[in-house]
Amino acid sequence: MKANVNNKFLKDYECFNVIAKVEGQRHDSCYVFTAHYDHLGNLGKKVFYAGANDNASGTATIVTLAAHYAKNRPPFDMYVIAFSGEDANLRGSEFYAQHPIVPLEQIKYLFNIDMIGDNNPVQYCEVSDEGMHAYALFEKINKEKHYFEALNRGELAANSDHYSFAKRHVPCIFLENEKGDAFQYYHTIYDNYHTVRFDSYESVFRLVTEFVERY
Ligand SMILES: [Zn+2]
Repeated sequence: MKANVNNKFLKDYECFNVIAKVEGQRHDSCYVFTAHYDHLGNLGKKVFYAGANDNASGTATIVTLAAHYAKNRPPFDMYVIAFSGEDANLRGSEFYAQHPIVPLEQIKYLFNIDMIGDNNPVQYCEVSDEGMHAYALFEKINKEKHYFEALNRGELAANSDHYSFAKRHVPCIFLENEKGDAFQYYHTIYDNYHTVRFDSYESVFRLVTEFVERY
């Protein structure tokens, strides 16, 4: 695929979250898949960079999840949300959490996918307090299927959009493949197609979809 981009710096540009829904068999609860599609974007006025790992990788993943559920009707409604303004202090997710289109209490589980374009065989994650009751299931699936060598759960932090939901008591998990070969390039102009890694994508996809099947 080839693409030509003519970039222009627009001051005070209004950004948007992009939301899609796949209708499930039940509507009283839902699953939510999120990823931010913004990036730092520019270095001075001349250098444009969009962020392949951070976070085209997560944005592409939630698009494939939407396609998967559009073909395989899910048990519950599925919301796929691409947030803007993450790298400007979680603004898109904060706005959404204050103005949700479905009440936050109806979220069975939320998956925030940010920077999985890497190849660390150990998958980093953060889980909200309310999401911890189901964390054993992630570990169980991973042990059975060996998607990753292990899951490494870190302290919950305001480092991506899941935090806007975690602090509002939504059960959620944050998946980021840290410290593989691509990690050194994040937030630099070298985070591009040549340095991004595709190793962890399939494992993340399977872990998430299998969790939904068995939860
Ligand atoms: Zn990010």
